[in-house]
Amino acid sequence: MKTKMFVSGRLTPKALSVGLIAFILLVCVMLVCAIAWQLKQSADERMANAKIAVHNIVRASEQQARDTLRQAENILSNLAERVENDELDAKQRLRLSKVMADNVEAIDGIQGLFIYDKNGDWVVNSFSSETVTKNNSDRSYFIYHKNHPGTAIHIGQVILSRTTGDMIIPVSRRTEYPDGSFSGVVLATLPVAYFQRFFERLDVDKQGVILLALNSGDLLARRPMIDALMTTNITKGELYSRYLINSDSGTATLTSVVDGVERVYAYSRIRGLPIVAAAGLSLDSVFATWWTYVYQASIMVVLIMVVLTSLGFLFYRQIQRLLGAEEELRLAHGNLEHIAKTDSLTGLPNRRCFDATLAQEWSRACRTGNSIALILIDIDWFKQYNDHYGHVVGDECLRQVAALIDKNINRPADLAARYGGEEFVILLPETELAGAVKVAEQVRSAIEAAKIEHVGSAAGRLTISAGVISSHQRGVLVAMDLLEKADCFLYRAKKLGRNRVEHQLREALET
Ligand code: GH3
Ligand code: MG
Ligand code: MG
Repeated sequence: MKTKMFVSGRLTPKALSVGLIAFILLVCVMLVCAIAWQLKQSADERMANAKIAVHNIVRASEQQARDTLRQAENILSNLAERVENDELDAKQRLRLSKVMADNVEAIDGIQGLFIYDKNGDWVVNSFSSETVTKNNSDRSYFIYHKNHPGTAIHIGQVILSRTTGDMIIPVSRRTEYPDGSFSGVVLATLPVAYFQRFFERLDVDKQGVILLALNSGDLLARRPMIDALMTTNITKGELYSRYLINSDSGTATLTSVVDGVERVYAYSRIRGLPIVAAAGLSLDSVFATWWTYVYQASIMVVLIMVVLTSLGFLFYRQIQRLLGAEEELRLAHGNLEHIAKTDSLTGLPNRRCFDATLAQEWSRACRTGNSIALILIDIDWFKQYNDHYGHVVGDECLRQVAALIDKNINRPADLAARYGGEEFVILLPETELAGAVKVAEQVRSAIEAAKIEHVGSAAGRLTISAGVISSHQRGVLVAMDLLEKADCFLYRAKKLGRNRVEHQLREALET
């Protein structure tokens, strides 16, 4: 169904309302889109900054782990070289023990150094120069070296030190006899606390994490520290199962298997070592200020939307009021126009209306050459009627006559009007005299047949006289001639006894 949008080049009230609502909606949607876009940009920026921050933390942790392990490796190579080439008699052992103690003293990340023979018995250590009868053949690093020829260092899972009781990372190397067979193990112990202390100095949030772990997934150090450090394996976590199998370094957003916190991580395998370094910042801390911004922006958007909608509503109401006032004015104008054209007593068009219509129809008739006819009606003995029945009844009688006249004209273009007093006029466009006479007769007989009592009349009932004229009649040259001639015939009708219709044809017949 087509809806009308314009009235005389102007939006209809409905189209205006729809337009206003659409405009407000459009502004709201654009506002929400603009804010959402800005929030997205800001979130992306925060994420990028967080990735840079965790990447730098990983680089620092990686560097620290690499430096410490290189130093341990150098010392272990040195010790292995001595064990393999020097005779370790009691004097040598004493000297070596002192050298080892000095090394431990000089290097921050190493807690202890140990030399074991092929049976796992303690030969020399950095803690005491005295011979200690302890055996470490049950340790996994010892078993590893026993079964794996080669001089590469081995980094083992976190264990509790039998010497200090601390958690330590065992870094070990195999020693061999000249024939290549297993002669024992040299061991450096790195305290987990050393890495923890370093991690504490790095800048991560309360829920952030920094960790070092073996390629096998066994944790070596972690901030925050967890009690189950020695037994926690993170290979099942997404970091290992999804990211580290595909790339040696990168960033990822994932949920920790250890504490269930969602973080943005940077991770890296340390080149040349079987260790992974990773650091993560919790998304809660990354987006903490962003969320505040989201809340503030949302409140602002809602406020703007409320203000916009309220203003739109006020605007809409003002338009409706203006339209209402305009409609009232239009109706009042219509009423005034109606009043100006209508006779208040009978409800028929008045003389002003008749004059205007006559002028219009006259010029139309002149253009088309069609005839227009006019019937002038006057109630007989109406003065007597008034005198006898009174003015009020006289008025009622005029109304009755007007209704009867109106009832007997049928074509839409015909016009019956009150001409003044007890006189009526009927204008019949495109009508010849014969047709008009017929109408006049019809009206006359209808009024007679209505049997309105009139004791002052000879007939005893109310009658009318009428004069009929048409524009095709002789002597009719201008519109006013119609009235004049009709009046002449009316006068004739009165003269000839009233209750009759007079016109030119009759006049011709009778003369
Ligand atoms: P005739 O047959 O010659 O026309 O006689 P008449 O008495 O009708 O003639 P006249 O023109 O002398 O009288 C017309 C009367 O119509 C005069 C007045 O009392 C009455 N009349 C005119 N206008 C009104 C009206 O609005 N209401 C009432 N009640 N009477 C009116
Ligand atoms: Mg009169
Ligand atoms: Mg009269």
